[in-house]
Amino acid sequence: HSHDDLSCLPLRLLIDGDWRDAADNRRITVENPATGKEIAQVADAHAADATAALDAACRAQAPWAALPPRQRADLLHRAYEGLCADRDRFTRVISLETGKPQAEAQAEVDYAAGFLRWFAEEAVRIHGREQQAPGGGSRQIISRWPVGPCLLITPWNFPLAMITRKVGPALAAGCTMVLKPAEQTPLTAILFCRLMQEIALPQGVLNLITTTRADIVVGTLLADKRLRKLSFTGSTRVGRLLLAGAAASILRTSMELGGNNPFIVFDDADLDRAVDSAVQAKLRNLGQACTAANRFLVQDGIAAPFTERLVQRFAALSADNLGPMIGAAARANTHGLVQDAAARGARLVLGGKMPAGHGYYYPPTILTQVPADAPLLHQEIFGPVAPIQIFTTEADALAMANDSGYGLAAYACTRDLDRVIRLQGGVETGMLGINTGILSDPAAPFGGIKQSGLGREGGTEGIDEYLTTRYTAIATP
Ligand code: ADP
Repeated sequence: HSHDDLSCLPLRLLIDGDWRDAADNRRITVENPATGKEIAQVADAHAADATAALDAACRAQAPWAALPPRQRADLLHRAYEGLCADRDRFTRVISLETGKPQAEAQAEVDYAAGFLRWFAEEAVRIHGREQQAPGGGSRQIISRWPVGPCLLITPWNFPLAMITRKVGPALAAGCTMVLKPAEQTPLTAILFCRLMQEIALPQGVLNLITTTRADIVVGTLLADKRLRKLSFTGSTRVGRLLLAGAAASILRTSMELGGNNPFIVFDDADLDRAVDSAVQAKLRNLGQACTAANRFLVQDGIAAPFTERLVQRFAALSADNLGPMIGAAARANTHGLVQDAAARGARLVLGGKMPAGHGYYYPPTILTQVPADAPLLHQEIFGPVAPIQIFTTEADALAMANDSGYGLAAYACTRDLDRVIRLQGGVETGMLGINTGILSDPAAPFGGIKQSGLGREGGTEGIDEYLTTRYTAIATP
């Protein structure tokens, strides 16, 4: 099956409706993380290709923005239907290049399709307002317009959903774009762009540049005055570099960056639900998600049974259920954090051993008694590793949770409503899950505060990132 999927894909750049090789004919080798073997080669864009893609996006901008919102919505509805109809093929391709199990890949396709449907619905609900000037003498019309050509940079961990979460609102708002997916996962992006061609998205509206030369290619685009917007999902390190690059042209930016998400379990929690939620929050996508729980803060009265149950649940999972990590470097980084914590005196209660053999597998791992200065508690682990810390009072938990430069997501398990209200105001993150391990939903504004990012994706807020406001004063006669 997957061989057929690849043999009929155009393994090239999509520029102005044409599938092209890179200007210097270089290619990217794509590997399957479950085997470490090559699965395909795709075009490796250089700076000239990026400029050609932006040329196309600029030419397509005015006619695309002029299209009635209902027609843009209809195209998004067709994209949604097309993605659902081709769900199995998308599932296979995602699974092939990320290594994630079929069930998780399928869940991603459904999640990704949800953004296309949501923004199809939002496309016809872009509103401004009209008001009388408070001092009299004029009417004020406040209107919303597409920002213009966008650069969308996406990561490998959700290679389809991170694309539709940006492409959906950009299309709905009336923007054209250049999409640069992660070099590890170009195939899903190619399959998606081909679908958009099949549903007759006008040429030049969506251009695709796959590349290993992200710094040069992205640098070229950031320096181009015609670019109006950058939307990035990835690490805080790269986000910071891109913000610096965007400063030169005062580019509009949206940044979905890293997190150090606490998962807090209070004594009054429902233990079954807390354990279920913890497994979801830690092991979805093998912990390779920016919303993954990075550290577990457990109140002293429930710490022993919670830890015991979590160990049982993690130990029952096999490599087949979980899949491999994305690559050798990612696995080495996670393992290094575990080894470092152990060297500092943390207790390894499960996993922590680098497996032999092919593929980038890593076992579910749990550590207790982790010293407060271990980097494991401060850096994104991005792997199946759960450090558990114990706290005594709610105030302690809140202080520990907020002791981070990041502010993406937090989770808390409790049955006390007053406490929930206090946490809602007290936890410094953009998202808070109560008695759940899953936060992502197309209808909800996803994003972080502090060094976790700028802007929101999804919800009614998601489209704002691609709109700009104009105001007109009309003197009253
Ligand atoms: P991750 O650790 O998840 O791979 P990165 O931030 O490295 O996160 O990657 C996210 C996206 O940013 C990918 O598409 C990657 O190719 C791109 N990227 C990485 N480095 C740069 C860079 N210097 N300039 C522009 N884009 C980059």
